[in-house]
Formats: sequence, C-alpha cells, structure tokens
Amino acid sequence: MLAPSDAHLWCVCPLAGHSLATGQYHTTEPLLIPPAASDSDAAREGTCAHWAAELLLLGQVDRPRDLVGQRHANGWVVDEEMAHHTAAYVEYVRSFGPVAATERTIELWGLIRGKLDVTSTADSIFTVRVFDLKYGWKPVEARHNWAMLCYGIAAAEGRDLDIELHIYQPRPHHPEGPARVWHIPAAEVPRWAEWLRLAAQECVDASHAVTGDHCRKCPAAVSCYANASTCYSAAGAVQETRMHDHTPEQLAAELRFLEQVEKLVSDRRKAVEAEAMARIERGKIIPGYVIEPRKGNRRFTVDAERVRLMFGPAAVKEVLRTPAELEREGISEDLIAKVTERPTVGRKLSDDPQAYAEKMFGKARG
Ligand code: SF4
Repeated sequence: MLAPSDAHLWCVCPLAGHSLATGQYHTTEPLLIPPAASDSDAAREGTCAHWAAELLLLGQVDRPRDLVGQRHANGWVVDEEMAHHTAAYVEYVRSFGPVAATERTIELWGLIRGKLDVTSTADSIFTVRVFDLKYGWKPVEARHNWAMLCYGIAAAEGRDLDIELHIYQPRPHHPEGPARVWHIPAAEVPRWAEWLRLAAQECVDASHAVTGDHCRKCPAAVSCYANASTCYSAAGAVQETRMHDHTPEQLAAELRFLEQVEKLVSDRRKAVEAEAMARIERGKIIPGYVIEPRKGNRRFTVDAERVRLMFGPAAVKEVLRTPAELEREGISEDLIAKVTERPTVGRKLSDDPQAYAEKMFGKARG
C-alpha cells in the first residue's frame, strides 16, 4: 500500500512508489530510511506542534498558555511560540465550522492507505475541507500537494462536493500569508481522482523511474540505478583539446547546466553517505571509511561571569538579538524595518534579473 505522506515521491516516480510500498527494492540489505527522516529535531518539533494543536482542537487543553511546558512523547516541549502558533491554527480551522475528525484511517482503491491526521471540519453541503498544520520553515504550497489530494478525495467519499485543501504554516514568510488553499471545484474532482488512481496504479508495475529534485527525499535513492546513472552521466570525462570562446547565451546555458549537475551530485552524495554511515553504525565495514565525531568551534565550559573574572571585562561582549529573532517574538516588522538595513557583503551572480530589478525599484504595477 502507498502512504499519502509519500505521495510527493510516488506521484512523480512509479519506481519510488513501488520501492516504498514493497520495501524490496534494496536487494542486499533491508531498505534504509536516511537518518534525517523521522527523528530529526525538525520532525520531532513538527510532531509536537501537531499534537499541541490536537489537544486544543479536542478541548483537552482549554487555554493555549496551558500548553506551554507540556512534553510530547518524543521529548519535544511546547514553548510559548509554538503555543501561540497552534492557537492561531486552531482559530483558523474553527472559523470554518466545528471540527469533524482529527484522526481516521483512509483507503483509496485498495492502493493507498494512511491516517488522516490532518483535520477536517464538518462538511458544508457544498464543500469538504481538510486542513494541515506545517511547522517547518521551508514554505509548503497547498496547490498540487499530492498528500493533501489523497486526504481530500478520501474525505469526499465520492460525493459531488468541492474540495478545499488548506495548508496553515505560521513561521516562514509567504506572499499569501500563513494560510494557503487549493480549491478543487466539484466538477474537477473526478478528473483529479482518476489522475491519482492512475499514478498509484503505475507504482504497482514500477514501469519506469523519473529522476529529479524529488530524488533528494527518496529513501531508495542510494540503490536506484536511474538516480546513479543520471548523476554519473552528468560527470563523464572527455579528452578534447580544442579551445572554445563562449557566446553570452552559451555562458548562461552552461551556468544553468552546472548548477543542476552540482545539485544532482550533492544530493546523490548525501544519499550514499547516509547509507554508508547507517551500515557502519550497524557494524558493517565500508573500506576506507570510518565515522568520526565532527568537532565544533571551541567554547567556554564556565559561565560569562567567570570568564570576565579570569580574563577581564574585554573578554565578554554584549550581543544584540537578530531582527528575525525579535520578529519571531512578535515585534512589528514595520518597527524593526525602521532601524535595520541589509548590508552588501559581497557580490554574486543571480539568474533572476527580474527579482533583482523588483528589489531595486519595486514591483511594476500590472
Ligand atoms: S531515487 Fe529518484 S528515480 Fe530513483 S526511485 Fe527514488 S525518486 Fe525514483
């Protein structure tokens, strides 16, 4: 069965879906999930934010401030910022009506099964709504969010209803604000459902692989021949002695190509490194490689007062909080803008002249 939470992979690459559903893609070792996935700080923090929102939605906690200091089973503790953001999310969800479900199992066509741990509000006669709180910093869009599409189509249960898929992401700046919505009119729902069913069905046959940006998050990347081959073919060596003077267009094209290759190779290296480290940690030998601790910069093991006493007042400096930290604590962006600037610290080549022009001269009115 395919998981909706992996839909960003299997909707694009049938081979990824097949590997994830069967776990048999890796032939010599069990399929490994790169260590970044479930126990990273970001993942634990996100799980904790979901849990805090659910406590509020279900009325198990009355006031947002009662959440502060509560600890999720994964060890992450709710702080004031998280309590504030989850309260805003709950208010947003409730503005559409009473909450109908916070957790239920969904299944589509015997191909997709998962837990609807997003939230839906009681359906209106015209619309079924599904909500998801995203707590990370990388902006997430609602439109073409395949996991949400799975949940929305399952929640609609074949009824002739519009579907609204809501992403609420309070932390990163987004031009549309913290809430984004993908609205699918009832007339378009059958087409999207069929598209999703076909994408899932293709994973059964694993008829082909599709490489691209999504490979970075694919647990099967290390053993995937398509991924390795794409990566290696970008680095083929040519022994050629003629010189060549680039035209401006050729320079631009080559820069774009090199950026892609750099990203491809870097993503593959991360996948292979994660696999090698996981094997070494399980006691396997990878010739020529060991795991050694990475050391950070030196830091004092005594407090600032002790350092001041030992080395004099010049050893301790007062440090200003960053504008971003103050904004996160709720200080007005406009106020901070009055006393901040963005200094130029160097120059870089940009492949987005329009964005640069907008930064310099403001957006053209359309
Ligand atoms: S690494 Fe990329 S091409 Fe290979 S299975 Fe995963 S998503 Fe598909």
